[in-house]
Amino acid sequence: MVTKIKQTWLFPMAVGVAIGLFLAGNLGPQAQAKDAAPRGRKPVAIADGQYPATYFPNTELIGPDEMRITALGTGMPNQTRAAVSISFLVELGNGDKFLFDTGAGMLANLFSLRPDFSKIDKVFTSHLHVDHVGDFMGVHIGGWLSGRFTPLHLYGPNGSSPELGTRAFAEAMTKAYAWDLATRSGALPDAGAQIVVHEFDYKQMNEVVYQKNGVTIRSWPAIHALDGAVSFSLEWNGLKYVFGGDTYPNKWYLEYAKGADVASHECFLPPEALAAYFGWDLVQATWVSTRIHTEPSAFGKVMAALKPRIAVGYHSVQSPENNAAIMDAVRKTYDGPLALARDLMVMNVTKDNIVVRMAVVDEYVLPPDVTQAYKDADRSAAKKTSEFIQAGKWKGYTPPPMPKK
Ligand SMILES: [Zn+2]
Ligand SMILES: [Zn+2]
Repeated sequence: MVTKIKQTWLFPMAVGVAIGLFLAGNLGPQAQAKDAAPRGRKPVAIADGQYPATYFPNTELIGPDEMRITALGTGMPNQTRAAVSISFLVELGNGDKFLFDTGAGMLANLFSLRPDFSKIDKVFTSHLHVDHVGDFMGVHIGGWLSGRFTPLHLYGPNGSSPELGTRAFAEAMTKAYAWDLATRSGALPDAGAQIVVHEFDYKQMNEVVYQKNGVTIRSWPAIHALDGAVSFSLEWNGLKYVFGGDTYPNKWYLEYAKGADVASHECFLPPEALAAYFGWDLVQATWVSTRIHTEPSAFGKVMAALKPRIAVGYHSVQSPENNAAIMDAVRKTYDGPLALARDLMVMNVTKDNIVVRMAVVDEYVLPPDVTQAYKDADRSAAKKTSEFIQAGKWKGYTPPPMPKK
């Protein structure tokens, strides 16, 4: 599996650039993962940069200077089981976790990692297409059920008019899920029900949208479909990750993604492959692939100009024929370090090395345990059904007595 990935999806190239597949820097044992280890296992520190060939979630301590980036979704709005819609999780050695986009389908991949959900409280959204926000309410409510007892913070752009912005999206979602939120309020920690929206100007140029705990996140405009899409950079501890969202190749990305250790950018299907994949004619496929999105040869041009430590392409379905079409086109314009992302691809990033592997997860993994703080968090009285509904209970069944607390 890993050998195949090394050969097919990962192409460490440029002379002098050390993409140490199984090498890494000094990852001290002092960073204690708070995440729940799989039953019967203890998470271990990575010694001498010797990463296991496969990433099994929560079996490795993240190093104090390490950034771990996991692709939770890399596909299209019309999904496959292997490629759900866009989302990336960034975990830092300081314990912080950040979600970039929450495209439909990413939730099961997030849960399969068994993260400490009290830390999954910050979502950055590049734009409001369903393949980038479709699981936002799933993250909100699923996370609230699974350990988050504080508000969920949503950072996203305004639109060209108020109803097209992130705030309007979050307010509408809260209204749409009024019944769901009402049923859980009281039973779950009160504060976890809240969404705090941090809406910012989509036109801002590399301005700070988040700064805390040594982490700085900036945004700049993207060119995609309508005004109101953005790209982000995250900087921490001398490392820089760039999340492009969806965008046509643009001058701002080339300016503000400079110095990226990991530069992710969409790398859409080339027109012929897109036409075949969607059953479209070549005119429509060419329009979408080369005018709305970034075709692979254009992605390659962007990365050849930017020269990140590693270029990460996403927003396709890496079937063998698609992978060949994408790779052929990228390699016409870019010969640097590259990973075409698949769902559950993991990158461990330090100043010295970037290691790219696949995670292997349990299809039936349990949700993570909640903390004592979650159990102790304030809850108002749980809601009940009306006497009218209560009176409908069948007398032929009596539930067992409630266990003592
Ligand atoms: Zn989009
Ligand atoms: Zn998209």
